[in-house]
Amino acid sequence: MSKSYKEYTITSDGQLMLKKADSDQIETVWERYENQLPQCGYCEMGLSCRICNMGPCRIDPFGEGPQKGVCGADADIIVARNLGRMIAAGAAAHSDHGRDLVEVLADVAKGKAPGYSISDPVKLKKIAGEYEIETDGREIPAIAGDLAYAMMEDYGTRKKELTLVKRAPEKRREIWRKAGIMPRGIDRETSEMMHRTHMGVDNGWQSLLLHGMRNALSDGWGGSLIASEVSDILFGTPLPCANQVNIGVLKTDQVNIIVHGHNPVVSEMIFLACQDTDLINLAKLKGAKGINLAGLCCTGNELMARHGIPMAGNHLMTELVIATGAVEMMLVDYQCIMPSLGKTASCYHTKMISTSDKARFPGMEHREFHPENSQKMAQELVKEAVEQYENRGKVYIPVEPVQSLGGFSVEAVTGALGGTPEPLIEAIKAGKIRGAAGIVGCNNPKIKHDYGHVTLAQQLIKNDILVVVTGCAAIATAKAGLNAAEAIKYAGPGLKEICGALKIPPVLHMGSCVDNVRILILASALANALGTDISDLPIAGSAPEWYSEKAVAIATYFVASGVYTVLGPMPPITGSMNVIKLLTQGLDDITGASFAVEPDPEKAAILICRHIENKRKALGLDSRAL
Ligand code: SF4
Ligand code: SF4
Repeated sequence: MSKSYKEYTITSDGQLMLKKADSDQIETVWERYENQLPQCGYCEMGLSCRICNMGPCRIDPFGEGPQKGVCGADADIIVARNLGRMIAAGAAAHSDHGRDLVEVLADVAKGKAPGYSISDPVKLKKIAGEYEIETDGREIPAIAGDLAYAMMEDYGTRKKELTLVKRAPEKRREIWRKAGIMPRGIDRETSEMMHRTHMGVDNGWQSLLLHGMRNALSDGWGGSLIASEVSDILFGTPLPCANQVNIGVLKTDQVNIIVHGHNPVVSEMIFLACQDTDLINLAKLKGAKGINLAGLCCTGNELMARHGIPMAGNHLMTELVIATGAVEMMLVDYQCIMPSLGKTASCYHTKMISTSDKARFPGMEHREFHPENSQKMAQELVKEAVEQYENRGKVYIPVEPVQSLGGFSVEAVTGALGGTPEPLIEAIKAGKIRGAAGIVGCNNPKIKHDYGHVTLAQQLIKNDILVVVTGCAAIATAKAGLNAAEAIKYAGPGLKEICGALKIPPVLHMGSCVDNVRILILASALANALGTDISDLPIAGSAPEWYSEKAVAIATYFVASGVYTVLGPMPPITGSMNVIKLLTQGLDDITGASFAVEPDPEKAAILICRHIENKRKALGLDSRAL
């Protein structure tokens, strides 16, 4: 690697493991990134197009070369089309994840999914009520079956509005109707985006971007929301629970199994199998003290939030976790799993298992999970992991884990507040808490690992802004000790007083990437309690280290829902001044919120604080000059 390890990551486990990977001659994401430099300037600006076979085409940003593609598309059209397709891919990923959960719910209802059950019948009935499904006097499986069917209909296109958009404040829904961006069907909006961006269909850059909003809303208030809610119904609604984070959660004297990916359907079964007495006894017979299950990325977040399962790391740590030599088995489902992992694992004794019919990887053994075979498959795989312990070589686990608190679902947050959002509103009105900000999203080797998330969170809590976190951002702040109650010592006086009284951290772990919708639901509850709209609230969103198309969909549904959102890395839109102006200014007139881009987290914190103080002023609350 060309620089000192400290320049790649702020984490001590990351720095030490990079050194180890170097000495083991393991290639990492950072090296591959450096090998790609300089990356293509046309692509970075969104100015290349390969949508049809008359191309590929590119527009010269300096105005000297071609200004039109072969079909005649200009920079605005090409940039808007490319962005639209990123949103469609992100929305499809979240929503297909949601569909997989609905299928499990349907199989549970039919008694065809051994090992799975309805863990939160109260939530099942509540959501069934929202879908106008009769619940009185009916058996749980019957309600579950009807709910699964009704949710599947939301994926199709028989409606004018998705069912769960009813949770958004009425003022917000009116904005969507007026702008023509009310989501109609989850699959419909993604399919329509792919249609619009086909050569010779929608060549209005404004109409393409507006449909991008509708497509993203079909994710935020549709597919992702369904994913989050059905996960709660099947596996339990998260409640605050203690856990540990960083690579130090791996154990030298236990069988280590890692789950990585996004969907809890597989990892929940592995979690249950790891508690099997026969398998634990087998581990002891093999010389281990037990079986240690840990997570990576959002599958890890799902298990952490519901069961306090430890978290080994976030996105950029996935290769380095294998390089400890301490992992007997890594099971992956889908999304954010680098295709390099099989090769990395081949240098150690780690067995790599892919589990989803839609996600295959080189160097991994494929063992497909379906609701009817999951329980049995999980038992078999945990047994294989235990047997792998004997093949372990030298291990290197260089740090001690950090304590953190996870599981702040909306129900848990309002529970901590005494059952209503009122105390939070009062604290905001009194100015003790200035507002709230969501820090979400990925890691990206373009930004020093975890620096964006941690620095931004530190700056915001210092300024009395309550921070909620999800995804890899949540793991970054947990590793930095900010998701623990003791972190109130880093908070400003008002936030310290409120969090201290409630015994909650100033940075609340709200779950995985699909759980960003929990932030929207909390914002809606605050807006409804105040009789206002989300865009009037002193809140903001940020994705300081985003990389994925899913993050583009998330940021877009945040803005479309009225939440000012600051991105760290620049999206590929700089080839069109018109697109930039619409996204950073023009959207304010349509959705009441806009995007900003600021890679420096200290400056991003200033933008967010300024926005929150302006919103306070508009609400007639006291406002600090910045
Ligand atoms: S759609 Fe137009 S700009 Fe894109 S590749 Fe085809 S001809 Fe080129
Ligand atoms: S936050 Fe980003 S990198 Fe992390 S798991 Fe989610 S989509 Fe993947």
